[in-house]
Amino acid sequence: MLSIKNLHASIEGKQILKGINLEVKPGEVHAIMGPNGSGKSTLASVLAGREDYTVDSGEIVFKGKDLLELAADERAKEGVFLAFQYPIEIPGVTTTNFMKTAINKVREHRGLEPLDAVSFLQLMKEKMKLVEIDQSLLSRSLNEGFSGGEKKRNEIFQMAMLEPTLAVLDETDSGLDIDALRIVSNGVNTLKNADNATIVVTHYQRLLDYIVPDFVHVLYDGKIVKSGGKDLAKELEKRGYDWVKEEADVAK
Ligand code: ADP
Ligand code: MG
Ligand code: MG
Repeated sequence: MLSIKNLHASIEGKQILKGINLEVKPGEVHAIMGPNGSGKSTLASVLAGREDYTVDSGEIVFKGKDLLELAADERAKEGVFLAFQYPIEIPGVTTTNFMKTAINKVREHRGLEPLDAVSFLQLMKEKMKLVEIDQSLLSRSLNEGFSGGEKKRNEIFQMAMLEPTLAVLDETDSGLDIDALRIVSNGVNTLKNADNATIVVTHYQRLLDYIVPDFVHVLYDGKIVKSGGKDLAKELEKRGYDWVKEEADVAK
């Protein structure tokens, strides 16, 4: 589904990603862990097509298409969803209207008719229940004045509505209390199926008690320096990142 080869990327002339290789198959959950500043958010942003990042070399192929050729909104239509570490606020646009537009754009791209009002409301209700989000939140301006937890839940709500093929969650756990963490994880786990994949970016192991990854990768200084199964996350929780850094520095 997703194939990243020797990806190099920079921001404002500073090289951040220094040769990322990653293969993601349908049905898989990959966790990207690593110390602060290692390039996790950069990788997520490059996947989503955010324009402030420059891809210097390498390739990203998604469902057989060159993802780097597509603008951010085209990637979204192809089924890539990014939940940001810091969700943006959009004054004057309600979540409901934002979702209606987003869903119908995706449907149009797939050659489907726009959802009628009744079906849209039904879908909203079903997904609202999944992430235990309050209706009143959805009629307010997107993310404006939302608490950290509400923003994160709203992101998972949007993901639930759009049913992406590839979901990238960037530190969706930061700032979440245990209840919100459970709800967000439950949403992600419920949406998981054999045809979609999830990349969970997280600094801490805690989220991975709820969203169990098939693979764990450690990003350090712009490279994946170690990969393993879910036990690697547990080991990182116990031992921290220093031993991985040392191994990587020795290998240099
Ligand atoms: P992580 O998510 O792993 O904490 P980031 O991808 O956010 O790491 O950042 C990787 C590196 O890129 C850091 O050294 C950070 O300071 C730098 N960086 C991120 N955004 C910018 C920017 N807008 N301008 C310059 N440097 C940046
Ligand atoms: Mg960070
Ligand atoms: Mg980050």
